[in-house]
Amino acid sequence: MKRKAQKRDIAIATALIFVGSITLIALGRYRGLPVVAPDPAAPAAAAGGSPSSGVPDPESFSSPAREAYRAARDNAALFAQLHCYCGCDRTSDHKSLLDCFRDQHGASCETCVGEAMDAQRMAAQGSPVEQIKQALKARYEQKG
Ligand SMILES: [Zn+2]
Repeated sequence: MKRKAQKRDIAIATALIFVGSITLIALGRYRGLPVVAPDPAAPAAAAGGSPSSGVPDPESFSSPAREAYRAARDNAALFAQLHCYCGCDRTSDHKSLLDCFRDQHGASCETCVGEAMDAQRMAAQGSPVEQIKQALKARYEQKG
């Protein structure tokens, strides 16, 4: 008898935990949703992610480079306007942060990856290009 009751309690507890975690996951999803409203005034979105970005397949890299290459591919038009402060403009003749992710350079450069993730985050928040440029300059310029 006692055993049966215990079993039932466990079943109820399991069900509660199940429902609880589903709710938490749902809430997390909801809260984690990036507020990227498609901006019709942003021509960058149309150019970004096009095959012409020249960025190799992000899946061929491992984290965190993968995320950075993905960011570069998705925001190619933006990255083309950003300066990379790792010194590659002198060593590799890179003209923009996009260039760092057109070859293998970005995969082994902490500065490039850091800039890519910052730029992507700010772009997702709706920051204007000028603001992203300034933030990268302030954060990475002295490192290069
Ligand atoms: Zn670079």
